[in-house]
Amino acid sequence: MSFGIDDLPVRDELRGKSPYGAPQLDVPVRLNTNENPYPLPEPLVERIAERVRAAARDLNRYPDRDAVELRTQLAKYLTDTSGHEVGLANVWAANGSNEVIQQLLQTFGGPGRTAIGFEPSYSMHGLIARGTGTGWISGPRNEDFTIDVEAAVRAIADAKPDVVFVTTPNNPTGNAVPPETVLALYEAAQAAKPSMVVVDEAYVEFSHGDSLLPLIEGRPQLVISRTMSKAFGAAGLRLGYLAAHPAVVDAVQLVRLPYHLSAVTQATALAALEHTDTLLKYVEQLKTERDRLVSELRALGFQVVESDANFVQFGLFDDSHAAWQKILDRGVLVRDNGIPGWLRVSAGTPEENDAFLDAVRDMKKEQS
Ligand code: PMP
Repeated sequence: MSFGIDDLPVRDELRGKSPYGAPQLDVPVRLNTNENPYPLPEPLVERIAERVRAAARDLNRYPDRDAVELRTQLAKYLTDTSGHEVGLANVWAANGSNEVIQQLLQTFGGPGRTAIGFEPSYSMHGLIARGTGTGWISGPRNEDFTIDVEAAVRAIADAKPDVVFVTTPNNPTGNAVPPETVLALYEAAQAAKPSMVVVDEAYVEFSHGDSLLPLIEGRPQLVISRTMSKAFGAAGLRLGYLAAHPAVVDAVQLVRLPYHLSAVTQATALAALEHTDTLLKYVEQLKTERDRLVSELRALGFQVVESDANFVQFGLFDDSHAAWQKILDRGVLVRDNGIPGWLRVSAGTPEENDAFLDAVRDMKKEQS
């Protein structure tokens, strides 16, 4: 018998669990992980090379531990795009927003503490909670995937969690959470504990509405989490960030590893931020394509959740896994999140979306 994971003294709460894993299959059209389908433009690639070359000359030294230049530029981006002024002291950056979330849970969660999310939502919130020893509470959501404010407020009042997650636009369903709902949850969280409220805005650049960033004013326990993985088309870069009261930025530094953001990462992110205008033009194209997917899927008779993200949740299927396989058989990889009846497709290039729509049309034809 070979030695396996079960033979190791892994922590009890990790036993029998699976790691996060969207399939990485080699198929012609991959629309399963909400990536931006557009490669970085060549002038940006050149600029990255330049900046990384300069950084390489100093790789014998540790990077700027506080990532001051990068955080300053991220603050400028947030200020320019939200109209709400934030500065270096409000912004913190890490290796993807997953690491931002991990640092928040290491700081405000941990053994003996709990976090709540309203599910279905981004599954990593619960998984990172588990990894940090934080108890996870699955909060309710309506059938149409909106948050039932009364039920959510009650869940917070009952569970008194230390951290409340609100994902807007939500993943995997795509719908945005109205600001009034977030405010009601914040009030409930303050009354219950008071707890931290983390608004995960990974997809907010694709939204019809605005970022909730201005809400951090006067709300020191509200955190806005963002990423360069989606709108900036830089999932491979691994750069996430948060905006909050400066006290939150001070607090997460208690758990961050020293020099957690490599000099190469900082240089690459800074280059990308110099090309914000070009990258945001791709976002506009993706929003148009996302809206086209919504209307064409509806025209084909599917139920589609209103989307403010770069992906669309559609159904209903008697057997969503079988439907996922049929679409895959036609060369298109979408996402089965295990939500019975539903599948999720990320907006790709117009050609990729055409291939996807042809695949679902063909699947429908076969069924009728
Ligand atoms: N939040 C949400 C809602 C996401 O969907 C994702 C990525 N799928 C992330 C955070 C993490 O993104 P990253 O670590 O690439 O910034």
